[in-house]
Amino acid sequence: MSKATERVEQIYNHVVRKNPAEPEFHQAVHEVLFSIVPLLERYPIYLDAKILERIVEPERQIIFRVPWIDDKGEVQVNRGFRIEFNSALGPYKGGLRFHESVYAGIIKFLGFEQIFKNSLTGLAMGGGKGGSDFNPKGKSDNEIMRFCQSFMTELYRHIGEHTDVPAGDIGVGGREIGYMFGQYKRITNRYEAGVLTGKGIRYGGSLVRTEATGYGATFFVEEMLKVKNETFEGKTCVVSGSGNVAIYTVEKIHQLGGKVVAVSDSNGYVMDPKGIDLELLKQLKEVERKRIKDYTLYHKDAVYKENGNIWEIPCQIAMPSATQNELNVKDAEILIKNGLIAVGEGANMPCTPDAVDLFIKAGVLFGPGKAANAGGVATSGLEMEQNASRSNWDFDYTEQKLKKIMQNIFQACKQTSDEFGYPQNYVVGANIAGFKKVADAMLDLGVI
Ligand code: NDP
Repeated sequence: MSKATERVEQIYNHVVRKNPAEPEFHQAVHEVLFSIVPLLERYPIYLDAKILERIVEPERQIIFRVPWIDDKGEVQVNRGFRIEFNSALGPYKGGLRFHESVYAGIIKFLGFEQIFKNSLTGLAMGGGKGGSDFNPKGKSDNEIMRFCQSFMTELYRHIGEHTDVPAGDIGVGGREIGYMFGQYKRITNRYEAGVLTGKGIRYGGSLVRTEATGYGATFFVEEMLKVKNETFEGKTCVVSGSGNVAIYTVEKIHQLGGKVVAVSDSNGYVMDPKGIDLELLKQLKEVERKRIKDYTLYHKDAVYKENGNIWEIPCQIAMPSATQNELNVKDAEILIKNGLIAVGEGANMPCTPDAVDLFIKAGVLFGPGKAANAGGVATSGLEMEQNASRSNWDFDYTEQKLKKIMQNIFQACKQTSDEFGYPQNYVVGANIAGFKKVADAMLDLGVI
């Protein structure tokens, strides 16, 4: 075992001891630390300057009470989080997740990933993440508004366009960002557009931000496919989830000539052999906020499977776009047996570590989330740029910028994986390229 591996193991064990019962955070740290060993062996300065010990410790962790009143007049209490992980490259930047499963370990894993993802975009953004264990399902618009206002009543004092800039994630879309921005504006008496991204177009949002994560993930896979002289044209694809990322992944795949035959939600999947009807999907999920099951009311050829495993559906390209650890090694085996050629992680950490290893060993093109889904935060960066210059770019111009950023991220992953002797291992490529930029900035900034 090399000296660098030994140190990494010690640091990892320390993280586990210091952050007990947070398996998702341990998993994210394990993946990054062990995959950057080749870099640490080549440049021991990162170990000498204790960059690893510093980077696994959030700069600040905020946990707060979120009281609100439901439609029956009853008081409800949730827990709010904002983990400001690393600001070496710029203000903390990362989404807010509202889901009943949220606790410190989830926010820490997402915040840690966000450091390297934001670094890969090439934009000046640090890493952070936040959210609440609030479950938005079945809540009225008024309940959502009261919750968002209460959440912001505490959060506002910790954020700002030069400090920390939240956005959306699971359970937080345009509606929630609008309510939070309204409350921020009211409390601070400032029209500070750059404090939140994912805003509506009417009040400082950017075109393409809604589509950005799904489009970006598809562009990333398009670049990977070029390595094998392949394209999306005529490929059968499966996209898990049916939220923001999934919907715009389906849209871009269809534009590029692929066919998405299945999407899902946490209750089951729907499979439509003719290809998913995108307009219906948007109507059901974005407008009516219905369950994916209702798709079959409109398409009699489509099949809904309650609790079904979407990865059993044969496809050439899989885009897991729902949540962490949704695709395990058994699913990977089935997908490979069914002729899979590429995986693009639209979600954060959707594939378990053994599934990732198997994909890479089997020669499946694998785009890790921190690279493949970076288009969302990259376009948030573009939104901040427009807010700062008080300008509005048109759709095509913004999409071209997003595409260029995704191509650059892919090139960084490819060149770095080649340089360190792991060709086509974009996990190693993304982690080393993302880490190096942050670590170098931390060296420049001194021990802070
Ligand atoms: P949404 O809330 O819009 O959609 C989430 C989708 O995933 C829903 O279909 C939801 O189903 C499903 N889902 C959520 N949790 C689970 C679960 N525990 N088991 C099964 N299905 C689940 O979120 P987004 O589309 O924004 O986010 C999806 C993923 O993409 C997340 O991992 C997020 O971190 C990541 N991501 C998002 C970005 C963005 O810009 N929005 C940027 C980068 C990454 P149901 O309705 O039944 O809960």
